[in-house]
Amino acid sequence: MATRGTRIFIDPEIGEVVLKKSIRARHISIRVHPTRGVSVTLPYIIPYAAAKLFFQTKRGWVLKTIEKQKKRREDAEPQDNAPTAAEIEALRLRAKAKLPPRLAELAVKYGFSYQRVTIKHNSSNWGSCSTKGNINLNLNIVRLPQILQDYILLHELCHLHHPNHGEDFHILLERLLRDHTAELLRNAPASKTIAFASEASRSKGRFPITHTLSKGIKGYKLW
Ligand SMILES: [Zn+2]
Repeated sequence: MATRGTRIFIDPEIGEVVLKKSIRARHISIRVHPTRGVSVTLPYIIPYAAAKLFFQTKRGWVLKTIEKQKKRREDAEPQDNAPTAAEIEALRLRAKAKLPPRLAELAVKYGFSYQRVTIKHNSSNWGSCSTKGNINLNLNIVRLPQILQDYILLHELCHLHHPNHGEDFHILLERLLRDHTAELLRNAPASKTIAFASEASRSKGRFPITHTLSKGIKGYKLW
């Protein structure tokens, strides 16, 4: 319903556009409001038809602005795929059942001994290793493919020998990963093995296997 001093017309894409006469307006202006929609304010002496024409010349800008506002809203809203509390609890159960035995298995296989392993939920790291030899693993690890899960576990195990990310740490980790990925890929489909090998061979990193796997991790966000 148009009130006195206003007219409404319908734009095929935008919908309602309100033309509002204002005593204070000195010139025609367009406003795109995220909830109240599009309005054109015009001085009393200007006819509605002129404001409508003015709007037509700015229509592209209006459409772009609506699109931008929509995008900003979508970015601000929690993602539809954000996990629920129940999903996190399900991950925790899976992580508790799977990760400690896997860590123990890898430790035995590659000659490490640690004190304690704890499954944690945080959004800052996939895992950590304390100087006392306690390992923390993020429950998100179980969302990763096996090769990336083992990469994180081996990374933390290597910290038992080298509590930093120095040269010696990387030499050890790269050597273990080379053997371990080769073993995992032996049972994987050939296409996967070839894809991994070719990516690692193209890596410009000094530690190509580590580099390739750490790139793989970056494709995942911590929930
Ligand atoms: Zn580390």
